[in-house]
Amino acid sequence: MAADLGTVYVAFAAVAGLLVGSFLNVCIYRIPRDLSVVRPRSFCPACNQQIRAVDNIPILSYLLLKGKCRPCGASIAVRYPVVELTTGLLFTAIALRYPQIASALKWCIFESILTVLFWTDFEARILPDELTLGGTLLGFVLSVAITVPGDFIPVFLPDLRPPWQSVVNCATGAVFFSGIMWLLSVIYATVRKKQGMGLGDIKLLALLGAFLGIEGALQGLLIGSVTGVLLGVAYVLWTGKDLRSYELPFGTFLCAGAGIVPFLPWFAKQ
Ligand SMILES: [Zn+2]
Repeated sequence: MAADLGTVYVAFAAVAGLLVGSFLNVCIYRIPRDLSVVRPRSFCPACNQQIRAVDNIPILSYLLLKGKCRPCGASIAVRYPVVELTTGLLFTAIALRYPQIASALKWCIFESILTVLFWTDFEARILPDELTLGGTLLGFVLSVAITVPGDFIPVFLPDLRPPWQSVVNCATGAVFFSGIMWLLSVIYATVRKKQGMGLGDIKLLALLGAFLGIEGALQGLLIGSVTGVLLGVAYVLWTGKDLRSYELPFGTFLCAGAGIVPFLPWFAKQ
């Protein structure tokens, strides 16, 4: 019976992921434009017509409509099915990795926030405060119930009992790298008289630390910045763009790097 329940759990996560992915698409389009994510119902950005329920089924509708809006024939961005598919896969992978429903929920929320930030930074170079600061706050609340892993801070505070160890891991994670980056950007701005790292990236680091703790955030930061620099340089060389003027979507790479961390085999052994 246990195996059957496990299958139902994973299948449920997969379907939930597809549906949540559909909602994340709405967030990716509307939050940077300061539009409500609840009302009105989904509409085509080309003809403003409301999308019928049958044309709004994750992935399937895109395939059936051959990527075109039914009323006006405008192309639907490939991002729509891609986000639905990746969210479905992420939720499935989370369910397989985290058999405890509370932990799985926390990491599904984290991956969802990262998915939206990945795309808003990629498409518009925007990392909305609602998600970075709001997400950091949410991570803080969740740290009471679900452990933020980390062995570094407990070395200095060995007598802390749960859940305080987790709360302290969350709080230190939120301020550690964001604090360092903020300080570096202030120094850079003073010396070079121009802005270095954006405030959005600094707030994103706070979010990553609040969910992953210092060690986890460091891993996400390393994975994200190494792949970011390599892909960024490759892209600039490939397209012949000017390396000094090309603005790398650093937040996109940070989100991708951090999104991998909950799946690392040594992360959150409990
Ligand atoms: Zn249309």
